[in-house]
Amino acid sequence: MPIEIRQFPCLSDNYGFLIRDKASGMVAAIDTPEVSAINKTLEDAGWRLDYIFNTHWHPDHAGGNLALKEQWNCEIVGPAGEAERIPGIDRKVADGDVVMLGEAKSTVLDTPGHTSGHIVYHFADDGAAFVGDTIFAMGCGRLFEGTPAQMVSSLSKITAMPPETMLYCAHEYTAANAAFAATVDPENVALAARIEEVKKLRGENTPTVPTKLSRELATNPFLRAGQPSVQRAVGMPGGDEVEVFAEIRIRKDNF
Ligand code: ZN
Ligand code: FE
Repeated sequence: MPIEIRQFPCLSDNYGFLIRDKASGMVAAIDTPEVSAINKTLEDAGWRLDYIFNTHWHPDHAGGNLALKEQWNCEIVGPAGEAERIPGIDRKVADGDVVMLGEAKSTVLDTPGHTSGHIVYHFADDGAAFVGDTIFAMGCGRLFEGTPAQMVSSLSKITAMPPETMLYCAHEYTAANAAFAATVDPENVALAARIEEVKKLRGENTPTVPTKLSRELATNPFLRAGQPSVQRAVGMPGGDEVEVFAEIRIRKDNF
């Protein structure tokens, strides 16, 4: 029995997600970027909130935890690796743990890099992954608390998912990511086509999230540090994948 997903924009460029297990009717919020937007979405759907599944501690992801727990008495599941920074956490989870939403099953992946304890929730049976700030459409999270090697390893856990997996990223950063991607992957025909598509979508204020893993494999420069064409474009032919990734990440930070 599948899960139902409601996605809504909030704050300046975040996406919030509410998910409901159709079999049991249980509902979870993926992160808590903005309490009023979450409550509005719950109200519109006629749902109540049973769980919060946090990906990491940043205030635009866990800042609404306490207010929502107070209101809904929901259970908060979050990353063991940064549990002391997750307000109101009830259950600490880490790599390989199973988190159930009623009868819907997700598996937790540790994806350190953006923060030291960042986790992803993979609903494999639903072909969906809630990836927080680990990967974005044509981008990846900034390395606030991790090394390039850690992030490359974290991203490899996402790229190991089936290519049709839908990635629910927490921000609409796609237009800026696309402009940067073109500078480090200029020969990529799939990227050029996607950039045109993104311009059109964003011009109509249409979300570019979720994104499909297969598209990211073809166009996300942070997944393509091992490609000879990308390595040539950044002046590191035959370079080590982690070193090329690090160079691309630094360039994006300064873009
Ligand atoms: Zn973040
Ligand atoms: Fe964020």
